[in-house]
Amino acid sequence: MRHVYRHAMPELETANQLEASHDLPEFYWSGETNMECVRQSVADVEQRGYSHHIQRLMVLANFATLWGVEPKQLNEWFNATYVDAYHWVTTPNVVEMGQYGDGVFASKPYVSSANYIDKMSDYCGDCHYYKTKDTGNKACPFNALYWDFLDRNEDQLRSNHRMGLMYSHVDNKQESGDMDEIRARVEDLREKERYGEL
Ligand code: SF4
Repeated sequence: MRHVYRHAMPELETANQLEASHDLPEFYWSGETNMECVRQSVADVEQRGYSHHIQRLMVLANFATLWGVEPKQLNEWFNATYVDAYHWVTTPNVVEMGQYGDGVFASKPYVSSANYIDKMSDYCGDCHYYKTKDTGNKACPFNALYWDFLDRNEDQLRSNHRMGLMYSHVDNKQESGDMDEIRARVEDLREKERYGEL
């Protein structure tokens, strides 16, 4: 990380190869969300200024990447809230590994749907949302956002050999029409976030 920092700064701090332009949702500061994994992870950071690796990478950075948050904004949040946030280690981890901002060392985005979060934690059992549903009321936001992320970044990610399996699933969803429902669900999620109901 130290070497990456020395090699890639200062460009790394504002790197944004996926051109993600959404603002960081307010619940990163307030913790007020129905997503149990995010709610508990933010609460841990608020209480202790710390959370473990899976919470950092696969809950908080994962959600921000799927949502399309500008990497610089998530990096500022990590630097402001964690007791161990040293710029040289936090910026490469958040901007590059967390949000695939530059491609300087990450070979693919570290994103996942609810399936992986459920395997690595015990959040989903107590959640307002259903971990197995992609669309419909109370479907886990990570699921629709995951497919929408792959769909909207297809031009940049499809040719990545590590993404081949994912894009075979994307093909099925595009051909079956399921992707239209997923896009509509994401619009619904963005509306909910605007009103503080996500
Ligand atoms: S169902 Fe989705 S939002 Fe809820 S805890 Fe699991 S991954 Fe997080």
